[in-house]
Amino acid sequence: MKIPFSTFQHMHEALRPQLLSAFERCVETGWFIQGEEYTAFEAEFAASCGLPYGVGVGNGMDAIFLALRALGIGAGDEVIVPSHTFIATALAVRYAGAAPVFCEPRMDTFTLDPEKIEACITARTRAIIPVHLYGQAADMDSICRTAKRHGLFVVEDCAQAHGAVYQGKPVGSWGQAGAFSFYPGKNLGALGDAGAAVTADAQLADKMHALCCYGSSEKYVHEYAGVNSRLDELQAAFLRIKLRCLAQWNAERQQIAKKYLESIQNERLLLPVTGGQRNHVWHLFVIRCEERDRLRAYLAEKGIGTNVHYPIPMHLQKAFSDMGFQKGAFPIAEKLSETILSLPLYIGMSDEEIAYVADALNAF
Ligand SMILES: *Cc1c(COP(=O)(O)O)cnc(C)c1O
Repeated sequence: MKIPFSTFQHMHEALRPQLLSAFERCVETGWFIQGEEYTAFEAEFAASCGLPYGVGVGNGMDAIFLALRALGIGAGDEVIVPSHTFIATALAVRYAGAAPVFCEPRMDTFTLDPEKIEACITARTRAIIPVHLYGQAADMDSICRTAKRHGLFVVEDCAQAHGAVYQGKPVGSWGQAGAFSFYPGKNLGALGDAGAAVTADAQLADKMHALCCYGSSEKYVHEYAGVNSRLDELQAAFLRIKLRCLAQWNAERQQIAKKYLESIQNERLLLPVTGGQRNHVWHLFVIRCEERDRLRAYLAEKGIGTNVHYPIPMHLQKAFSDMGFQKGAFPIAEKLSETILSLPLYIGMSDEEIAYVADALNAF
């Protein structure tokens, strides 16, 4: 049996007529940037997070960067980010002109360790960016309490967790702003690059809207030195169609994960930890194994596609070599990068496919 790590085949086959008619509608109206689909998607997506304001932008990294800039964060400021995340979280901080400060994650849930944040705070710290990594909400009550105590902003990186909640409250609605990516492979993905920020703060939303459009709210009047990072009309139209399926897709992901959790039994494998106040929308199903590379090769031989998210922790990336970190500086992030493995998980995955992967893992 051949099992890809991921595929859009089933997801898009079912939506094909709707996606094609959205394309035709856009071509007919001849309006491609910031039109009706864009405005409607912003409102619908924000509402799905329980919030009044959405700001459609070009991609997920820009959503983080624009939220930071709109909050007035820039040169001389420090922002706490996880040492174990996709690099966009930390690069967005750099892009805003501020300095990322790495904080270790919890070994069990992979998300920011709330007990380690305090030690990262200095007089320059302005914000914390928790990442709801792999689809699981970070420990938001504790993180927000620490932020409040120290007068820090919280910008949530929700790129992997569309529809996730913590204590029943949607991710993206805990901090001053939530940043989402609609990169095709995310739980809610466009047919290209796209992103959005959500917020309860009208002024912050206005500022992000201006910043993503050359710093302008009124045509040819530029209040800020902004950038061009807009969600285009066509992607907004596609995203409106796919947003209506998000809850059902997340439920399907949860079913697949449940089957994995029930059927994978092997002492050499550590299964993902969930529960408590956190919920999980399973952007990725990540296991741990001391012999990760051998396991990965073994699964490949059986036709099973896997991936590693991510193989190099932030502090050891060449892009951040100017920070001067050596191996050993962030042992938890390093340990995770050496032992994690993401299993196949996609919309339309059959019981037979899930069982084939679980059987292969159990025989390892
Ligand atoms: C995908 C992702 C981003 C960036 O999103 P883009 O749309 O690719 O810019 C940021 N943070 C995390 C955790 C991601 O997974």
